[in-house]
Amino acid sequence: MFRSNQIKFAHHALNTIRVFTQSVVDKNRIKDEVEVKGGRIVSIRWNPFARGWFFEKNERHYDVTYTDRSGTMQSTTCKTSLFTGVYWADGPRLEEAPPRIIPPHHCSKCGYAINAEWRACPNCGAATKFA
Ligand SMILES: [Zn+2]
Repeated sequence: MFRSNQIKFAHHALNTIRVFTQSVVDKNRIKDEVEVKGGRIVSIRWNPFARGWFFEKNERHYDVTYTDRSGTMQSTTCKTSLFTGVYWADGPRLEEAPPRIIPPHHCSKCGYAINAEWRACPNCGAATKFA
């Protein structure tokens, strides 16, 4: 009886260590996925109560908050498992983010790069069409 409780405790402790170790590995993988796409991690929180946790024991679910390429805060959830990598519930939509850099305009007369708000070319003085 006493012995079996000890074994149970040891098993529980091992499980806890295993889950903790996996969560560190998972968080690094999630961080890499977001950073590869130009985002920055704000927080990654393990969510043990996410749907599916009790049925798919080899998967871990995380609530992920990050800023996308344009600096917009995004929140999503993802799940990871040893063999399948990272799956995002609804994101990250980093690749669909609109480009921040406005394509440069050029003066039609001298070719000088012109800001869209300028009314005249600072190089040759020609009036611009876009302002
Ligand atoms: Zn010009």
